[in-house]
Amino acid sequence: MRLGISVRYSLAKGSGLSNRQLLPLVEKSTIDDIELDPSIEEKEMEWIVRFLENSRLRLWSVHGLAGHEPISSLSQEIRRKAMEKAQRTIEVAGDLGAHVVVLHASDEPIAEPKRAEQIAHAKKSLAALVPVAQRANLILAVELLPRTCLGNSLPELVNLLDGLPRDRVGICLDTNHVKVATTLPKLIHTLGRDLITLHISDFDGVDERHWLPGKGIIDWPAVWNALREIRYDGPWLYESGAIHDDPEANIHMIEENFIHWRTLADEIKNGRLCEKG
Ligand SMILES: [Zn+2]
Repeated sequence: MRLGISVRYSLAKGSGLSNRQLLPLVEKSTIDDIELDPSIEEKEMEWIVRFLENSRLRLWSVHGLAGHEPISSLSQEIRRKAMEKAQRTIEVAGDLGAHVVVLHASDEPIAEPKRAEQIAHAKKSLAALVPVAQRANLILAVELLPRTCLGNSLPELVNLLDGLPRDRVGICLDTNHVKVATTLPKLIHTLGRDLITLHISDFDGVDERHWLPGKGIIDWPAVWNALREIRYDGPWLYESGAIHDDPEANIHMIEENFIHWRTLADEIKNGRLCEKG
């Protein structure tokens, strides 16, 4: 599995560092794949295009622009604005040569009596984004979200994707958004080919924490081996929060974390360890 990171989320503590400062550091590391976040601004675009042209890094994914989430809003005007942002993200991602755009089906909270209506809007909005994704030659990955957000369970995600072309729309599994951590391997098996991409981070089993794997309660070798069993072919993409002020220290920490869990997963798969180390 290739090593990926959400560049600014995992490397820049606070918001002080730009892609322009971070990407050359990633280039020198053993990281292969990157996800860019909604911070891409016009002034940075030209630089990013030129950087990627000469880089060994693969722009795997782009996360929807902040404010794209209410694509399922009950307000037509809010929905229209959110759809504009989602469309712009997809077009920009296509121009940059990204493979995947990660989208949230809603913001929150969602009142239970309105849930079915919002799901219907989300489905219509996603269907309207499919031709945009087709033109941009990329896949939309709807993210598993926590709490009351739309897409907070596998059945609801499956419902959201129902009827949409699976070569253009799939799922982003954020490991720290599941309700029960021990269900992750089974969830991965159920997702199968619908699993397009990952957001890897750990949590306490209560709410999202975006911790580095190992700090929380997730059984990482089990997750790794489940991904191997379904022949997941995207990256192991970290969306754990930056810990150190120095971005290079965060890069080293992630590189070590990746090797640690990969080694342990291999050992367990090959029967050299009987149980989780
Ligand atoms: Zn995420």
